[in-house]
Amino acid sequence: MAGINLDDTVMTTRLDAVVNWARKNSLWPLPFGTACCAIEFMSMMASRYDFSRFGAEALRFSPRQSDMLLVLGTITNKQAPILRQVYAQMAEPKWVVSVGVCASSGGMYRTYATLQGIDRVVPVDVYVPGCPPRPESIIFGAMQLQKKIEKETLQGRREHIEQFYASMDRQEQLQLERGLTNHQVVREMVLAAGQNGEQKIW
Ligand code: SF4
Repeated sequence: MAGINLDDTVMTTRLDAVVNWARKNSLWPLPFGTACCAIEFMSMMASRYDFSRFGAEALRFSPRQSDMLLVLGTITNKQAPILRQVYAQMAEPKWVVSVGVCASSGGMYRTYATLQGIDRVVPVDVYVPGCPPRPESIIFGAMQLQKKIEKETLQGRREHIEQFYASMDRQEQLQLERGLTNHQVVREMVLAAGQNGEQKIW
């Protein structure tokens, strides 16, 4: 048609880019709060910091309705299989933010009872340092996650999650074979991974 400049009327993009744009601006957080870091999260969700500015105000305590897992506090070895189960039950695609030194590395709790970093049992996307991190730091972490989502491919995220499901299958199989409890199996998997120099079981 004469007189119509296609550059003014047609926009081209990639599917990954447009889907990721929607994903990064509609994150639904699930707080897995076990200690003091969860208090900072409460502040972040309230009016002063207003996390809803990022499209993430739909706070859910049901894994089925969430896609951003925020781990806020110390995680013990006994809690590790529960954390894995919560992550497994979340809607896909999904992301994990480790908030504070306790979740990221065990923090000052260098003890046999504390998990020395949640990335040993679930795939972490962003680590927020601090003890406790201020609400601004957690918001910065969420913004880093948005940047990460912007750059990733749909296929890459799918494979990332499938790798975790494969480790859940291994966990169930081991449990059947050995007749151990959930947390005993996860503990054994973490110890075996440590001996192989891998640390992570997923
Ligand atoms: S990192 Fe500090 S503030 Fe956060 S849970 Fe651990 S001890 Fe508490």
